[in-house]
Order: sequence, then C-alpha cells, then structure tokens
Amino acid sequence: MRIAIIGTGVAGSLVAEMLAGQPGFSVRAFDRLAAGEESEAGTGLNVGPNAMKALRLYLPERHDAVRAASLPWTRWFIDTAAGERLADIDLLGVAEEPGIRLRWSELYRVLRAPVAHLTRHSARFEALEEAAGGKLRPIFRGPDGELFDDGDFDLLIGCDGRYSRLREITDGTVTPRFFGVALTRLLVPDARDCPFDEYGQWFNGHARLLAFPLPGGAAYIAGSVPLPSPDAEVPAAYRAPGYQPALYEPADAAPCPAVAWMCAKLRAMPEQIHWARLQESPLLRHTMQGRVILLGDAAQGMVPTLGQGATQAVEDAVLTGAVLRAGGGAARIAALRDPRVEWVRRLSVAASDTMLRADPVAGSRAKGKEPFLSMLKQLYTYIPDSI
Ligand SMILES: Cc1cc2nc3c(=O)[nH]c(=O)nc-3n(C[C@H](O)[C@H](O)[C@H](O)COP(=O)(O)OP(=O)(O)OC[C@H]3O[C@@H](n4cnc5c(N)ncnc54)[C@H](O)[C@@H]3O)c2cc1C
Repeated sequence: MRIAIIGTGVAGSLVAEMLAGQPGFSVRAFDRLAAGEESEAGTGLNVGPNAMKALRLYLPERHDAVRAASLPWTRWFIDTAAGERLADIDLLGVAEEPGIRLRWSELYRVLRAPVAHLTRHSARFEALEEAAGGKLRPIFRGPDGELFDDGDFDLLIGCDGRYSRLREITDGTVTPRFFGVALTRLLVPDARDCPFDEYGQWFNGHARLLAFPLPGGAAYIAGSVPLPSPDAEVPAAYRAPGYQPALYEPADAAPCPAVAWMCAKLRAMPEQIHWARLQESPLLRHTMQGRVILLGDAAQGMVPTLGQGATQAVEDAVLTGAVLRAGGGAARIAALRDPRVEWVRRLSVAASDTMLRADPVAGSRAKGKEPFLSMLKQLYTYIPDSI
C-alpha cells in the first residue's frame, strides 16, 4: 500500500514512524516547511501522561527521546492571583507516569528526525486529483511557486493541522466554535528568577494565567482573557502592554510573587506575545470513502484547556499506525478513536468552566477532588495496550 502523509507536525511524524519500513507499506511524507524550519519555534507546551503512555506502548524509542528533551510534568496547582491555594493535583496519583513540559521546537525536532529521510520538505499540499484504479494524486506547490506531484497513492493521511487543506478540499470549509476567550502565549527565554517550578494556574475572576518552567532555564506564560462575546475578535486595545496585567492583578490585595513576576514579563515583552482565540472544530475522521484519514488537529481542533491537542495527536498517530499495521482501515480507526476523542473534547470544554461562567474559586477547588480526579485518571491512563 502506498501512503502519503500530509504534514509532519506531531501526528504526521509519529504515524510516519509507525509505518516506515513495515512490510506491505511504502510511505512518503510531505511538509510545507523547509527542512529544519520550525513553526511556533518559540513557545512551550505541556503534553499529558496519556501521550507518554501511548508512546511507551507503541514507540518506546520515541518515548525515551521525548522524555530526554523535556522536563517532567508531575503537578498541577491552582491559586488565586493573591496566592490562596485552591487545588494541588499530584499527577502521579492519577497517571502511570508524568507528562512533559518542553518547547515546540524541541518536540518537533525529536519527532521529525526519524522520518526526515522519507519526508519531502518545502512541499505545500494544494490540490487533489483522482487517478486510475481509485488511487489519489496529491498536488504540491514548491518553494519557487512550481506545482508538482509525487505519483499516486492508495491512502492519504491528513496531518496538516487546524487549517487542514486536505480536509477543506475533501469535505469543505470547517466552521469553528468560539467561546469568547482570547488566549495569549509568551516565552520568557531567561526565567532563572521564576518564583515557581511546576505547572500552575492563577485566577483573578475569570482572567487566568497559566505558566511553567521549560528546559534550558526558559518559562512559558499563557493568559486567558475574556472577550465581549463568543464570536468577538480580539480588540486592538487588549494588545496594549498594560491591558493583560491589569486583568490578572487583584484589585483588593497584593498579587502573589508568581503573578507579580508574570505581569512584569507581560509588560516588558508585549511584542513577543502571540494571540489566539479559544475554539474547537467538529470531529471528522475520514473522507473519500476512507481513502483519506484525518489525524490530530486536522480531524479534531480542540480547546487547549487540558493540554490535550498535541496529546491527542500523539494518541491518534500511534493507534492509527497500529491499526494499519494490523490490516485495519478508516472504519476501524474511527471506531477506536472517535468515542475517546469526543469524550476528551467534552471534558476539555467542561474543564474550561472557570474561564467562562462558573465561579473560578469553587470551580478550581472542585478540580482537586472527585469526580474530576477520576476523570483525569481515565484521561491519562485509558490507552489500549494492544490492537
Ligand atoms: C494557544 C494554544 C496552546 C496549546 N497548548 C497545548 C498544550 O499545552 N498541549 C497540547 O497537547 N496541545 C496544545 N495545543 C494544541 C496543539 O498545538 C495542537 O493540537 C497540535 O500541534 C496538533 O498536532 P498536529 O500534528 O495535528 O498538527 P501540527 O503540529 O500543527 O502540524 C501540522 C503540520 O502540517 C504542516 N502543514 C500544514 N499545512 C500544510 C500543507 N498545506 N501542506 C503541507 N504541510 C502542511 C505544518 O507545517 C506542520 O508541520 C495548543 C494550541 C493552542 C492554539
């Protein structure tokens, strides 16, 4: 079977590694980026223990490489902006191993290296032709604007991210659902004076800071800023240097040292802050009668509240690889993955309550107790150990 993988981010690199060299498969991967070029190179992310379990079971070498490039994510605490502790979750109480914290560029480097030899870089997927015998011929645009193809394929695996061209061409434009929250991301390259050492969240009303240290002495700061309405764009005034700190600093108390430190960084580095909006898109696993399979964000853009976007992309990739190796196809992958992904999506939206309407203090306290802890356990451990 000749397989084309479109996009070598998280899902694409891993599914390519799962299938490369397996009997009966010939794999080619394509990415719009030039070799070694990293998009989102600066910021950080946390990946859940469930992704690490999936890698441990199905790609142990990649598990160890990712672990070596990251810091362990073992704890999740939630405070008010004045420093009152609301929840403190020991991840090893709900998972079999820690999650990870690392830079995007490091994750991509570690995942892309093993499949570099079968990847064609600077190849932006643009169009699709039907070829003889039910095969598909993807058309790419090269760095000088030229169009080219790489022959015909039996199966295309779309791993081209949230704005998937493959999904758009084969199923139409995706309409995302917005929640009325803006998300900001900032990498602090030198964070040696950072006053916390694990994954924390700090609430002032519905405005929330989230931060954690990264390997190499850096730190990642993410903000959640309420918007005037669910579909509102981010108003230009929100990007002014003082706007975010004024939201996170309590009016009636001194900010705790962590919030004071983060607000100083937000004031000092407004140009380095990335803005996005909290959103999700409907799940779609396959198109073209199963000849196109979608993985990761191409299948299921999800809210990042529980750090499950890249995490689910990992689960998708290794389990899809295992199903294809076992002779299964699109229907088997959908049956295995879609109920799980829908459950994770619902949990991620439910866990966003404290940024939306719920009382952030009561809602955060509830996250340190049952039934939320049992749901985290299900999230972090339910990975099938064989296909
Ligand atoms: C603010 C924010 C914070 C987040 N934080 C976290 C977090 O902490 N933890 C977490 O698990 N997830 C997080 N996520 C989600 C995470 O970013 C994604 O879910 C994850 O990157 C999806 O992986 P993927 O493989 O589907 O796509 P990507 O990793 O985005 O990879 C897509 C690949 O496709 C390539 N590509 C795109 N278009 C084309 C084309 N036309 N032709 C060829 N190649 C193409 C790209 O170059 C790229 O290599 C966050 C998201 C946001 C917005």
